[in-house]
Amino acid sequence: MATAVASSSTTQDWPGRWDHVDKILERAGPSTDADGFLPGDAVKTFLRETVKILVIGAGGLGCEILSNLAMMGFKDITVIDMDTIDVSNLNRQFLFRESDVGKPKATVAAEFIMARVPGCKVTPYYGKIQDHPESFYLGFNLVITGLDSVEARRWMNATLVGMVDEDEGMETMKPMIDGGTEGFKGQATVILPTISHCYECTLHMHTPPTAFPICTIANTPRLPEHCIEWASVLEWPKVFKDKKIDTDDPDHIEWLYSQASARAKNYSIEGVTWSLTQGVVKNIIPAIASTNAIIAAACCNEAFKLVTNSAPYLDSYVMYVGNDSVYTYTFKPEKRPDCPVCGGEVIDVSVPKDWKVEKLYEWLMEKQDLQLKKPSLSTAAGPLYFSSPPSLEEATRKNLDKLVTELLAEGEEITVTDSRLPFQMSLKIKFE
Ligand SMILES: [Zn+2]
Repeated sequence: MATAVASSSTTQDWPGRWDHVDKILERAGPSTDADGFLPGDAVKTFLRETVKILVIGAGGLGCEILSNLAMMGFKDITVIDMDTIDVSNLNRQFLFRESDVGKPKATVAAEFIMARVPGCKVTPYYGKIQDHPESFYLGFNLVITGLDSVEARRWMNATLVGMVDEDEGMETMKPMIDGGTEGFKGQATVILPTISHCYECTLHMHTPPTAFPICTIANTPRLPEHCIEWASVLEWPKVFKDKKIDTDDPDHIEWLYSQASARAKNYSIEGVTWSLTQGVVKNIIPAIASTNAIIAAACCNEAFKLVTNSAPYLDSYVMYVGNDSVYTYTFKPEKRPDCPVCGGEVIDVSVPKDWKVEKLYEWLMEKQDLQLKKPSLSTAAGPLYFSSPPSLEEATRKNLDKLVTELLAEGEEITVTDSRLPFQMSLKIKFE
């Protein structure tokens, strides 16, 4: 009869349920901001009946974040994830079972939390964050991102910064708590859009995903990675048309490996191996359950403090390094005045007079604070160099060999677009 007792109390808070959390909410602590924190029933009601929190990602970090939030008393949670459950997720994504393989992560996670934590409502969205308009994001008090994708974070960050409207008041400013892990390392940060640093301001601190200029891959390979990228980016679509590479299919990797090896031989490049091929195309990021638990816990504690004001929140970046003993430190990243999201609109660039367009393009690709994939450049006069579609690439390729001074005047602007940039960026060219 134990189940009948449990289900009869699914929607109410039984006596003593939140006793431990309430100890924090009923009285101020020594570091509590006396003006910001009002202990008592109002803050409890706010946390449990008013706050709407959005969690992006229901993977390794997301499972931990959802479980922590539900057990801290957040009762209106929304989760977005575009993935389905794979058998390789089951060692750490503990809201999923073998019978869930193939189902959407967001839906299964929401159902699990609601079944396990009575009274907690979790609304799932199976799809991309880009599918939702600004008005959707304005409906939340707070956003937590637990993602393994830099692109998705950049999009979310740019959207939240762009949403801030001073005329509409500070309610349009939605704090973003971002967590990330890689093996034994991780970080958490509290971003107050337009007030603190933003994700884009700190982009240079994150290891960039491997990206090489398409012109190098196509014409002047120097590294084994260039040959592998050539096989996967250029040769595969030529031979297999619209068929996508399945990075888990050994036959696909084998084909790429043999193509890359042949090209490497032609250019006398050494080092193309089967495992390097797999590593480059899969872009493997190791995941460790306990690191996810540490970082998710940090994110959720910050969420709790931000909505209740019960203690000072993280200001504004904490790093956890567990691969060389244990080291952790907290610091406050600067808001970058030239940040393309929260800083100025146009970035000034000094170009030596002997630079060709190709050199400028390579310099852009190597910039850690931009992490571009296949940028396209244009001026007011038209395309300068387009990396895709192939017809435009071919038509604009001749410009790569021209001097920048030939094509642009001092002070002219170049517009940069890229699949990794959630916005359009302008470079104002000055000559050295
Ligand atoms: Zn910024």
